[in-house]
Amino acid sequence: MAPVDSEFTLALQVPEPRPAPGFTPALLAWYDRHRRRLPWRAEAGEVADPYRVWLSEIMLQQTTVATVGERFVRFLARFPTVQALAAAPLEAVLAEWAGLGYYARARNLHACAREVAAKGGRFPDTAEGLAKLPGIGDYTAGAIAAIAFGRPVAAVDGNAERVLARCHRLEEPLPKAKPTLRRLTQDLVPADRPGDFAQSLMDLGSSVCLPRAPLCGRCPVARWCGGAAAGDAQRYPLKAEKAERPTRFGTAFVAIRARDGAVLLRRRPPKGLLGGMMEVPGGDWAEIEALAKPPFAADWRRLNQPVEHTFTHFHLVLAVEVAKVGDFAAAGEWHQRAHIAHVGVPTVFMKVLRAAGAV
Ligand code: SF4
Repeated sequence: MAPVDSEFTLALQVPEPRPAPGFTPALLAWYDRHRRRLPWRAEAGEVADPYRVWLSEIMLQQTTVATVGERFVRFLARFPTVQALAAAPLEAVLAEWAGLGYYARARNLHACAREVAAKGGRFPDTAEGLAKLPGIGDYTAGAIAAIAFGRPVAAVDGNAERVLARCHRLEEPLPKAKPTLRRLTQDLVPADRPGDFAQSLMDLGSSVCLPRAPLCGRCPVARWCGGAAAGDAQRYPLKAEKAERPTRFGTAFVAIRARDGAVLLRRRPPKGLLGGMMEVPGGDWAEIEALAKPPFAADWRRLNQPVEHTFTHFHLVLAVEVAKVGDFAAAGEWHQRAHIAHVGVPTVFMKVLRAAGAV
């Protein structure tokens, strides 16, 4: 942990009990000076656009701000309103989402846009109403309600959890501690600036209360932080031990058309993992290695190195077989190399295509 400067040393010896009255004003004053400027955020004094807030929050689930930034701008240029998104075919949305991962989010995004558009294009303005829409959980509902509609509700993401768990030296591990952290955060939400408060916790967590090495000497709420006072902030939040991720194995067959380098892809079934996305043909993924049957006879050659990819619930090891083939009517679609990045190929299959030298 970074050393705590002398200004805070005296205050840190006696951390105040919760909820500390000065915590929220101090955090908001810091936010007014250090707020991040992000493409989906309203400038100080502007009203936030619910569509942008919703879209950014869905994109930011499981994806970093750095990755989302550019993709958000591109997505918004292609689907500038919730009505435009609702009117687009799902395939177009999935294609624009490619590479952001967790594709169920894109399917829910589309379903949600259709529901909102069907009701006149206005998002519900309460956390309860928002939470009834597809793909919107408690955190996202709270964030949209607070940021876009000024509702005094807590939006408790990983950043808020970290800050609050450290301030309170919470011994309850995550995920069990979520309701406690929600209550502790809710106690601090100001009636007049709930959206700024939500965003200030996000910014504090991403630039000061860092996961591995919190910068307590620069922290505007250090005087209310039990973890900083005790010198063990980085111990929090405690996390319950995770079950080990299983490994699954499979084979991907990359057929490259000899005359023009086009690659054979096919669409996955609409439901399930990576549903509706394009894939490199292959068999099932199982927890034991087995020889997979090629989609058709050809001079298949196996690459020395498999491709590995980690999903939320399992790690995947894919053997890659490559064949140069002639013209024939295959079950699937031929895609030119230059277009593959635009047809919605998930990261795992882009890795396969790169390993095979097909893109
Ligand atoms: Fe340090 Fe985080 Fe506590 Fe701030 S909130 S004093 S950065 S542990």
